[in-house]
Amino acid sequence: MATAVDAPAASRSAVDARYRAVSGWLAGVPEPLDPRDPLPGERRVDVAIAGGGLTGLWTAYCLARADPRLTIVVCERDIVGYGASGRNGGFQSAGMAGEARVFSRAGGMEAVRRAERAFMDGIDWVGAVVAEEGIECGWHKGGALRIATSPTQAARVEAGIAGRRARGFTEADVWEISLEELERRVRFHGAVSATYTPHCARIDPARLVRGLARACERLGVVIHEQTPVTAVERGRLVCAQGALQADVVIRATESFTRDLPGGRRRYLRLYSHMLQTEVLPPAVWDELGWAGCEPIADQRYHFFYAQRTMDDRIAIGGRGTSYHAGDRIRDGNDADEAIMARVEQALRFHFPAARDAAIEHRWGGAFAAPRDWSMSVVYDPRTGMGHAGGFAGHGLTGTSIAGRTLADLVLGRDSDLLALPWVGHEGRRWEPEPLRMVAANAISSILLSADRAEERTGRPARRVALVRRFIPGR
Ligand SMILES: Cc1cc2nc3c(=O)[nH]c(=O)nc-3n(C[C@H](O)[C@H](O)[C@H](O)COP(=O)(O)OP(=O)(O)OC[C@H]3O[C@@H](n4cnc5c(N)ncnc54)[C@H](O)[C@@H]3O)c2cc1C
Repeated sequence: MATAVDAPAASRSAVDARYRAVSGWLAGVPEPLDPRDPLPGERRVDVAIAGGGLTGLWTAYCLARADPRLTIVVCERDIVGYGASGRNGGFQSAGMAGEARVFSRAGGMEAVRRAERAFMDGIDWVGAVVAEEGIECGWHKGGALRIATSPTQAARVEAGIAGRRARGFTEADVWEISLEELERRVRFHGAVSATYTPHCARIDPARLVRGLARACERLGVVIHEQTPVTAVERGRLVCAQGALQADVVIRATESFTRDLPGGRRRYLRLYSHMLQTEVLPPAVWDELGWAGCEPIADQRYHFFYAQRTMDDRIAIGGRGTSYHAGDRIRDGNDADEAIMARVEQALRFHFPAARDAAIEHRWGGAFAAPRDWSMSVVYDPRTGMGHAGGFAGHGLTGTSIAGRTLADLVLGRDSDLLALPWVGHEGRRWEPEPLRMVAANAISSILLSADRAEERTGRPARRVALVRRFIPGR
């Protein structure tokens, strides 16, 4: 297994140290995190992209590969990977970034089946680019485990399988495994039942997004960091340093879209929190197993997710309330103490082999939930304006599909991707403040108390019915 090689600490700048503190993944990238040059002033280009996360960079990459003559510029407010793309759980899964009930409206269940299949195939598409471009991000397709830790969760896992089967997953796509088989894969305390799917890869997300940026640059894409976009308009991207005139303008700012003109109610910003242990010694791995590095998630409403990292740590994360007053994203790593404590508790309880492991990194990050929990890829050839986002915490495959699709739309190329149900899909907007703050906190509190009640009583918590229409299905 490869080991992360840090830049020599003595040679690091204060800016590098500030960005390394944003997430355990960014802390571990081998290259310095000193920003690329900002936009030097007014320029004219073919394609201007706001946001240096995976959506912006996959779009730039696919366009540059398809037409090397295009001049393409990406403007990033901080550094590449500062947003969710450099902070996430590293599950590149086939979990569709959208709801079957939403996507079936336009094309029926057949559209949903094609969409699910596109996510499954999308995992290998990313794997192929990672190999071709030599991106060392620990991409390893060993499948994923979903583990129920109570009988009520087990019932939800079964319902989830039935739902997936109805949407086109076969017996070869997801199946139940025995607790003995689970034990052979990983020693996990507290499992009641488990399923396995081969459709998931484990990655180090910061190394992926930053390696992708370098691949873009090799193709001639120009990336400006420390370049805040203040408005996304027809024919131009207005930046703090000047405007970029462009025939095509793409917004790829996901949860940060709220801070751009007109973006306030597009998404609900939700937070997920992660921690990383120290590098664990071979004796711990002997006890733990986990040779297949399958990412693991449970089935609580505020579920947790965990992976064995490419440098032999456990990285584990969980969701919970932390809708910030005024819906502001805080600078830096944005960790919430109470949620971090719950995540650490899950680590110590479910992975007893790591009971004494030191925690080296703790951080939080925002992702974007659209009102209908369903992603969008939108491009209008008359105005040259496009955007993609709303992956609702499932962006590692969704962003690459969005980038490939935006490239086809911009170039006017026909492809199977254009018939997928998120193309042209725009969900309705969220309610205005303070309604959405009250609602977001109430929903989260109800789900948290439902998890606790289910653990206490062993029965399904009926209070979830109150919020079911605001939360994603399974
Ligand atoms: C903690 C956490 C765990 C997650 N786990 C998973 C997972 O395991 N699997 C999965 O599939 N998905 C996961 N997700 C979701 C996934 O990370 C996102 O869906 C995906 O990274 C979105 O990519 P993006 O490029 O659209 O947005 P981002 O990565 O957020 O990129 C947006 C970029 O725009 C920049 N920006 C913002 N405002 C401006 C501006 N005004 N001007 C210029 N630039 C600007 C930001 O700095 C940022 O770099 C997780 C998310 C979080 C937060």
